[in-house]
Amino acid sequence: MSIVKNIKHKIKLLVHAGNTYQCPFCRYSSRDLEIVGHDLPVLMEKQVIGGGKRAAGCWKCKSRDRERLLYSFVFEELKIAENKNQRILHIAPEPKLSKVLMAQNFQEYICGDLFTEGYHYADHVHNMNVLDLQFPDNYFNLAICNHVLEHIPEDTKAMAEIYRVLKPGGAAILQVPISKNTEKTHEDFTISDPLKREELFGQFDHVRIYGRDYTTRLESVGFKVKQRNVSEKYKKFAVNPEENIFYCEK
Ligand SMILES: [Zn+2]
Repeated sequence: MSIVKNIKHKIKLLVHAGNTYQCPFCRYSSRDLEIVGHDLPVLMEKQVIGGGKRAAGCWKCKSRDRERLLYSFVFEELKIAENKNQRILHIAPEPKLSKVLMAQNFQEYICGDLFTEGYHYADHVHNMNVLDLQFPDNYFNLAICNHVLEHIPEDTKAMAEIYRVLKPGGAAILQVPISKNTEKTHEDFTISDPLKREELFGQFDHVRIYGRDYTTRLESVGFKVKQRNVSEKYKKFAVNPEENIFYCEK
């Protein structure tokens, strides 16, 4: 960061300092949040939870509501740090959450992503296809795979793969963008034009917008789905009051 940028950043942190929120990643306490996201018509019309323009960014480390909710759930609700004897799979890992998980020294903490040209991946992230996971059955205690399934035409195949590699009694956290006012998932794989996808699904590389029937798909591969809303409890971490955690047990 240049000196001028650095000074500007420090002033910004003084201006927004306060006691309303605290970022669990960088511990910065603020009175408000940075506006992030874009108001695409489809996100507004379908009331996609966590989509569109909203006050959700940490002024200091740029963490967003979604990632702070995952932190709250994994560390505060599941109290994951209390049991190091577990194997965890993190697909398309959120960088800040991944860093904290990695520091725990679990029995195994494996990160994977489908490598795509033009993107940069951290050293600890392996090239991995969620449709064909190279792990035995019943291997992991926990899988975390967020905002991935909406990119994959064969989403139930990916769900089944995650289910397969989980131990009985293990669980997966599988967040996706969900439309609040739509019952049935809207998908169309014939559309490949990025602009058209953005218009219909809210992002250039999404193939669908999930409706409330998302849980039916998860259940179809065997998961017992529990929707948990912990937002009220972790208001301090500035999470989205509307976002439920999809906690999927095997
Ligand atoms: Zn932060």
